[in-house]
Amino acid sequence: ESPEGRKMLEFRMRLPAYKEKDALLTAIARNQVVIISGETGCGKTTQIPQFILESEIEYVHGAVCNIICTQPRRISAMSVSERVASERGEKLGEHVGYKVRLEGMKGRDTRLLFCTTGILLRRLLVDRNLKGVTHVIVDEIHERGMNEDFLLIVLKDLLPRRPELRLILMSATLDAELFSSYFGGAQIIHIPGFTYPVQTHFLENIVEMTGYRLTPYNQIDDYGQEKMWKMSKHAPRKRKSQIASVVEDALRAADFKEYSPQTRESLSCWNPDCIGFNLIEFLLCKICENERPGAILVFMTGWDDISSLKDKLQAHPFLGDPSRVLLLACHGSMASSEQRLIFDEPDDGVRKLVLATNIAETSITINDVVFVIDCGKAKETSYDALNNTPCLLPSWISKVSAQQRRGRAGRVRPGECYHLYPRCVYDAFAEYQLPEILRTPLQSLCLQIKSLKLGSISEFLSRALQSPELLAVQNAIEYLKIIGALDENENLTVLGRYLTMLPMEPKLGKMLILGVIFNCLDPVLTIVAGLSVRDPFLTPFDKKDLAEAAKSQFSRDYSDHFALVRAYEGWKDAERDIAGYEYCWRNFLSVQSMKAIDSLRKEFFSLLKDTGLVDGNTTSYNAWSHDEHLVRAVICNGLYPGICSVVHNEKSFSLKTMEDGQVLLYSNSVNARESKIPYPWLVFNEKIKVNSVFLRDSTAVSDSVLLLFGGSISRGDTDGHLKMLGGYLEFFM
Ligand code: ADP
Ligand code: MG
Repeated sequence: ESPEGRKMLEFRMRLPAYKEKDALLTAIARNQVVIISGETGCGKTTQIPQFILESEIEYVHGAVCNIICTQPRRISAMSVSERVASERGEKLGEHVGYKVRLEGMKGRDTRLLFCTTGILLRRLLVDRNLKGVTHVIVDEIHERGMNEDFLLIVLKDLLPRRPELRLILMSATLDAELFSSYFGGAQIIHIPGFTYPVQTHFLENIVEMTGYRLTPYNQIDDYGQEKMWKMSKHAPRKRKSQIASVVEDALRAADFKEYSPQTRESLSCWNPDCIGFNLIEFLLCKICENERPGAILVFMTGWDDISSLKDKLQAHPFLGDPSRVLLLACHGSMASSEQRLIFDEPDDGVRKLVLATNIAETSITINDVVFVIDCGKAKETSYDALNNTPCLLPSWISKVSAQQRRGRAGRVRPGECYHLYPRCVYDAFAEYQLPEILRTPLQSLCLQIKSLKLGSISEFLSRALQSPELLAVQNAIEYLKIIGALDENENLTVLGRYLTMLPMEPKLGKMLILGVIFNCLDPVLTIVAGLSVRDPFLTPFDKKDLAEAAKSQFSRDYSDHFALVRAYEGWKDAERDIAGYEYCWRNFLSVQSMKAIDSLRKEFFSLLKDTGLVDGNTTSYNAWSHDEHLVRAVICNGLYPGICSVVHNEKSFSLKTMEDGQVLLYSNSVNARESKIPYPWLVFNEKIKVNSVFLRDSTAVSDSVLLLFGGSISRGDTDGHLKMLGGYLEFFM
């Protein structure tokens, strides 16, 4: 055994999970369902699947185990499998492998597979009984993701059919009881953890301690603040989420009596809608002045505010100096090379500073953290069933999340946590976050229920841990009927069956299928791939105008989707002369997204071959037509009923949808730069409510295109179709 290996084993043996190894294995042997809860970082994810693997390989000679462990995110499936393989001194893809959408590493001898929950659901599609699988481990169930909740219903049905199958549920926080009772009182094993005390500061203490002066509302010098203001420039602030108003009430009621007048004055300027970048920078400097060693973890809401904060800090004389501060980011779309750096120890005298999303709350543990700064927010999708509109807003986290974030500071020695909001705001937080199934549109889920032949959609969903609103279910079913994926009796149509074979949103799948049928797949592949990755058109905060102008160069004929195709094809040409980077830099395009589009195109193409829609021998895309009218028709049909009418007035135009009334375009849409759109309709990919409703990525279409290609041509339902259009005309005229 190598010294490396010994060190690794020592590390593993120190983890709290290791001490429970025998108890865990016994419980798993004796019970079909076991629920394991334990402090984040105690070794659930990396150790427990390994214990099972080791015990089966070592003690049960001849027996072959086949363990599947699901993760809610690709990034954790990949990083965990890599970690486990290296703990075992193996190469990834031997005994331990992973599989996520579009990527995987798995061999003939792979006995432990980490995958995303979506991958396991797809496997259930072709293998209802999970033949040959001995253990299913569902990790991070406390997150209550939609796929996980869905999977639990399916597995609950499966258990009686597979009495020897073992189901292990792992959770970070304390609601293990809920899952236990869902599985008829399944055994719970709690792994006792240990954390050092964490000194906690809320905003009022921070201000009192440091004398920091918060900026008044009207002085826009926080990045976060400015951004929020720009986004909502046209829109009066009206709709606030319930939690936001609870927070405001709490603030109004607070008097901060025991604090100095200065502190009170400063607090009165605090804006709960903003993340104070200046305050974060100030605190980081304070911490770094301090001689106490230890890494700093800052919780932000998403990729965008992380990168703007990173830019700001990089310009700072001290914090931006790589010989003193190792500045890293940790979020769902980072590259895996960047990911590994997070676990590395920095050089002597260098302090590690990680800007993270809530991914670092429970799924990724950074070992040497001593200081935590918590902005109190996370980006959360929510869904307004009444208007059938998804919303994406940074919103307040739950108490449990805040506690998790705080706990990250006390893993190696006593730590400190700075919450950038007052105590009374924390007290107003909800105990737990609402499960995703209650706050997202359900179209893909309903399609999956149908393809897994799970019976009536609403009956099935009524058996969930928490069932979604009836209205949300009806909306989803209605949508699937409109696009022709379900027939009147909620059975899958031919189109629906093809859609279930394509792991993407139904509208994107439908575009691909139509691209094949209408023989214009090449540009459609680019569009669908482009809509599946992070927006390739970058709008850096301080160069917004330049970036938008750059995008509009690609625009012709009022379509963001065509702009995307042109940008990609230009990149492809430039790439041939090795000028890809230069091209992206000049045109404010993300190289990463371009590359992702490139590989997704290939992936989608081979998926289409698998479905039999494209002949297996086709190798090149060249034969496909680029006829713009054809492609526009396909876009229109794919995005329908995502449609709004264009209403012109003297100087410009406004947009209306049937459900929302007036809607706005994101400023980086090519159509937002036009003063006139010579078409009566826009079809759009996505609408998101951020104070008011914004449309992302739109294409203008004519009456005749809408008439012929909106709705479900697959059903040949021209009558219903005309009625629908009539409804629109009546509504708007
Ligand atoms: P849990 O699932 O209970 O939250 P994990 O099994 O993820 O805990 O982590 C156990 C320990 O292994 C933690 O201390 C964590 O920091 C460490 N660890 C996990 N992944 C890596 C990695 N890729 N590199 C280094 N250490 C890691
Ligand atoms: Mg874990």
